[in-house]
Amino acid sequence: MAILETRNLNKRFGGLQVTSDVNLALEPGELHCLIGPNGAGKSTLFRLILGEYAPSSGQVIYDGHDITALQSHDRIRRGISVKFQVPGIFKALSVRQNLEIALQHHLEGHSLRGAIKSQLEFLNLSADAAQLAGNLSHGQKQWLEIGMAVALKPKLLLLDEPTAGMSPDETRATGDLVRALNAEGMTVLAVEHDMAFVRQVASRVTVLHFGRIFAQGDIDSIVADERVAEIYLGQGHGPHHG
Ligand code: ADP
Ligand code: MG
Repeated sequence: MAILETRNLNKRFGGLQVTSDVNLALEPGELHCLIGPNGAGKSTLFRLILGEYAPSSGQVIYDGHDITALQSHDRIRRGISVKFQVPGIFKALSVRQNLEIALQHHLEGHSLRGAIKSQLEFLNLSADAAQLAGNLSHGQKQWLEIGMAVALKPKLLLLDEPTAGMSPDETRATGDLVRALNAEGMTVLAVEHDMAFVRQVASRVTVLHFGRIFAQGDIDSIVADERVAEIYLGQGHGPHHG
């Protein structure tokens, strides 16, 4: 049974159809990448899955339940977590304090301190624990935000362009991080432009174009698909072969 399934999902903004009959199913434990040109509707699909937008029609099924009518906070409580493109870290607080805020919802005292320590190690941020989050490098900020997004051990993690603006080394480290989370059992859906990242992490790839599923398959079949290459023409960027 799929952990996440969208059924004939549609979203219109006025006369603009941004999501069109999207039927996407993720198997539990899958690491799936979502690609597509700018404006294809990737972030909108995330907002529909999280419940920040209500669909014009169609359903979102999660863990066997129809969650289409649930508020975002109820979806988060059931184990869906999202890291959006804009970092949501507290820049004026230390790295440690940021993790403390995220982890203190379900831990306290000794176990909270232990969880912060192991999360700092997992994110490669132990040496920067006392730094203000605002002083971290771009890549480190993204890792901290991923750390906060997974603090409540979600079953389904959605990542919107986690490697945007990163160097190739940072991108590879992010791929390692995402793979480690997936190895713990977390199902991951990542929007990504960087084809090196997609190749590093994804078992399956879905291409979105004008709000529709345009192609789906493993990375080799997607990269070899001339129709997929054509939809990126004239975009000036992506998919990058980093
Ligand atoms: P992507 O993430 O693939 O770049 P988006 O989902 O951000 O694409 O946007 C898809 C389309 O939907 C764009 O044309 C965008 O302008 C439009 N759109 C997104 N959110 C809204 C909104 N709240 N109101 C109106 N149009 C929107
Ligand atoms: Mg987007």
